Amino acid sequence: MGEPTKHSQSDKLHRRGLLFILSSPSGAGKTTLSHMLLKQDSDITLSVSATTRPPRPGEVDGVDYHFVSDAQFDAMVAEDEFYEWAHVFDHRYGTPKGAIRAALKEGQDFLFDIDWQGTQQLYQKDQQDVVSVFILPPSLDELRRRLESRAQDSNAVIDDRMDRARAEISHWAEYDYVVINDNVDECFDRVREVLDAERMRRTRQTGLIPFVRELMGG
Ligand code: 5GP
Repeated sequence: MGEPTKHSQSDKLHRRGLLFILSSPSGAGKTTLSHMLLKQDSDITLSVSATTRPPRPGEVDGVDYHFVSDAQFDAMVAEDEFYEWAHVFDHRYGTPKGAIRAALKEGQDFLFDIDWQGTQQLYQKDQQDVVSVFILPPSLDELRRRLESRAQDSNAVIDDRMDRARAEISHWAEYDYVVINDNVDECFDRVREVLDAERMRRTRQTGLIPFVRELMGG
C-alpha cells in the first residue's frame, strides 16, 4: 500500500454544496425519488421542512416534517427562521434556515422537496447554489391513478390536488431541468445524472485552484 496518488486526491477536492430542488405535482413521484436519492447518496441530506399540516399515517415528526402548530409557525416567521415559506393547499410550509448556509461551505448538499413558490424564493435568496428539477407525470390520468392508489386522501382531496397539479405544472418552465417520470428507475437515473454533473461545475469545485497550482508545480 503506497501513498495515495494525486489522482485519488483529486476525487476528494473541496467543493461547495448545492441546494437540489425536486418539485412536481403531488403524486408525480418526487417523494419516492427523494427517498431513493437519500438512500443511495450520503453526500446529500434532506432539508426537513416545518408544516402546519397534520401528520399522515406513518409520517414521523422531525424526519418527514417538523409538525408545528399555527402559533409556532407564526413565531418562526416573526423570528425570521425561514429561508422561504409558502401557503400550499390549506397549510403553511417552510424551510428552516438552520445550519444550511454554513454547511454549504463545508460541501454538504441539501435536497428540497418544495413547490414552485419555495423554488422561486430560494432562487431569489441564493441563485448560485440552487439546482432545480421539475418532475412531470406521463399524463394527468396516470397522475390521478397514482393519487387514488395512495388511498390516504378522500375523493374531494384528490379532486382538489388534481386542480392544483395543473397549477403546479404550469410552472415547469421556471426550472433548470425537467424529467418525465414514466418509469421511476429511469427517472431516477436522469435525476442522478443532473446531480453528478452539477457537482462538477467549475464554480462549485473550490478546491481546484490549490489543486491546479500544485499540478503546475507551485
Ligand atoms: P405534502 O402535504 O403532500 O407533504 O406537500 C404538499 C406540498 O408542499 C408539496 O408540493 C411540497 O413540495 C410542498 N412543500 C413541502 N415543504 C415545503 C417547504 O418547506 N416550502 C414550500 N414552499 N413548499 C413545501
